[in-house]
Amino acid sequence: MDEITRLMRTKAKELLEKGEVDRVLGWEKGMFFYSTPPVFIDKPEDAEKLVWDDFAINNLAIYLLDKRNQESKVALFVKGCDSRAVVRLLQDNQVKRENLYLIGIPCPGLKDPKTAVRGYYKDAGQVPKAKKCEECQHPNPVLYDELLGSPVEQPPKKDRFADVSELEKKSADEKYLYWQAQSDKCIRCFACRNICPACSCKDCLLDCSKPRWLDKEVDVAQNQFFHMIRVWHVADRCIECGECERVCPAGLPLMQLNRKLIKDINELFGPYEAGMDLEQRPPLTEYKTGDPEEFM
Ligand code: SF4
Ligand code: SF4
Ligand code: SF4
Repeated sequence: MDEITRLMRTKAKELLEKGEVDRVLGWEKGMFFYSTPPVFIDKPEDAEKLVWDDFAINNLAIYLLDKRNQESKVALFVKGCDSRAVVRLLQDNQVKRENLYLIGIPCPGLKDPKTAVRGYYKDAGQVPKAKKCEECQHPNPVLYDELLGSPVEQPPKKDRFADVSELEKKSADEKYLYWQAQSDKCIRCFACRNICPACSCKDCLLDCSKPRWLDKEVDVAQNQFFHMIRVWHVADRCIECGECERVCPAGLPLMQLNRKLIKDINELFGPYEAGMDLEQRPPLTEYKTGDPEEFM
């Protein structure tokens, strides 16, 4: 990881010195061994702040939305999941490809700062891999201008819907009670929405006050309504990065909900993984005369 850190700093410095980009998005070391938060580098001399370590887990692509209407050129480091988020934003016309310089980093699997804190671990070696990284099927960037280091080995194929299939065995009442209990825990902080590269609408209906679709009161019914809106709005565009579930302070199993819809879409329209290929449109944005229509 030290070698990748060195390469990151050299590359960022070079891009900024030559004026090829206005800003570099990366990670820096925080106050604790488990914190490696995002950093925005605007000056070549600050490139030394950049770090690649076990906790560089934050997806940087979401910060591109802050600059979506500006013509400045940004470089960012992308792991497998981050690169899929960039594909998502490009497909949704949120950013322009010519304004991006993507530096790919093959990812060995990272750790979640929240786990480190909650487990009272004393050093990085004790902290287990993040859940999203245990489940990851695409650790190598799918889109980049240059790659730092060599691609990592492809993880063994897993059934990404195993969890959902288990849930589907429950009765309708059991499923309802299960999701009701999960919704009850939600504090409606919107972290899951705000971190999501598929949630890119500038004006979100959840913030709308005229009309107000969602009541301010945080109760089960309103929370269930919120979760239905969120998950349907990302249904065929969710890149399965796991960031929503990772940042949720209440521990909701949001990937189960996301993957239920993804599984249904796969069954209706054929195998599909969002954010893998710029040319492949999400299934719900295309219409074919042979599409299943029993739900219409
Ligand atoms: S989900 Fe995959 S690419 Fe993303 S941080 Fe984890 S292992 Fe790396
Ligand atoms: S991050 Fe968790 S607690 Fe916050 S709104 Fe989303 S589901 Fe609710
Ligand atoms: S819904 Fe969650 S897993 Fe899907 S793209 Fe958004 S943050 Fe990633």
